[in-house]
Amino acid sequence: MHAMVLKKIGTALEWTKLADPKPGPGEIRVKVSACGVCRTDLHVVDGELPNPEIPIVPGHEIVGRIDLVGSDVEGLKTAQRVGIPWLGHTCGVCPYCLEHRENLCDRPLFTGYTRNGGFATMVIADARFAFPLGETGSDVSLAPLLCAGLIGWRSLGIAGKGKKIGLYGFGAAAHIIAQVANWQGRSVFAFTRPGDVAKQSFARSLGATWAGGSDEMPPERLDAAIIFATVGELVPLALKAVRKGGRVVCAGIHMGDIPSFPYQLLWQERQLLSVANLTRQDGIDFLQLAPRMNIVTKATIYPLNQANQALADLRAGRFEGAAVLVP
Ligand SMILES: [Zn+2]
Ligand SMILES: [Zn+2]
Repeated sequence: MHAMVLKKIGTALEWTKLADPKPGPGEIRVKVSACGVCRTDLHVVDGELPNPEIPIVPGHEIVGRIDLVGSDVEGLKTAQRVGIPWLGHTCGVCPYCLEHRENLCDRPLFTGYTRNGGFATMVIADARFAFPLGETGSDVSLAPLLCAGLIGWRSLGIAGKGKKIGLYGFGAAAHIIAQVANWQGRSVFAFTRPGDVAKQSFARSLGATWAGGSDEMPPERLDAAIIFATVGELVPLALKAVRKGGRVVCAGIHMGDIPSFPYQLLWQERQLLSVANLTRQDGIDFLQLAPRMNIVTKATIYPLNQANQALADLRAGRFEGAAVLVP
């Protein structure tokens, strides 16, 4: 097999030939057909997340077909199409696992961070954490759903049932969640970098009621806002944009420092929350609904060995929607 391997934090991924891995008990081997590129991959490469399992193959929005099934695997078979998300394993016995909050597991493994991911031609997965995908939709269009879609879905749930939803940062996650929110009958207010009129018109083309710069106030107060961008300065701006009792949800795994702000912005029962990882139930719920929501993912395709270019383009915001690697 071949993989793009991170051998040292802060360096480019290296195209590397590796021995074909064998699935152990409870594991499957998947031939990767598409793998999305996520902001979290950049955090791993940049060393912004603690204790990555170096050397590591990044990538946690994997679509592929099972080509080997280990012992003790139930319900999955060879040639079946599956998706492999960020949550790669949980312990099953910690207090968080026992209270159905496995996204907060004390001893988890994360795909592309603490276990090898999908910037590769093959990957081993814990069979219990692979989602059967069925045959609707292309591999490339489904890949961004596995993290951008899923984390966005969890964030939208935590944002509550309000009708007016702000999305700060209009990248891969927001471009999917705007469509989900519309499908649910909500209005989307999209915030981009000030002056990024291209992303603003992209947001409008996906049904946003309003789009503007993050330094602007929306035309009406929001019920909730989700911050997908990694910029801590957005937190007080989003708090300012939500109504009394409104929620601000930070969806990213990493964010720059939040500047101090007047208590007035939080007062009147506004809530500030973060979202961490996903549970398998999030995946089941979202992936069951996704085909009915007619989500159109805008994907820019790169060959697998161009992963460094995809990461650089993501960093610079050079494409709309999501980047997807294809072996
Ligand atoms: Zn656990
Ligand atoms: Zn991700």
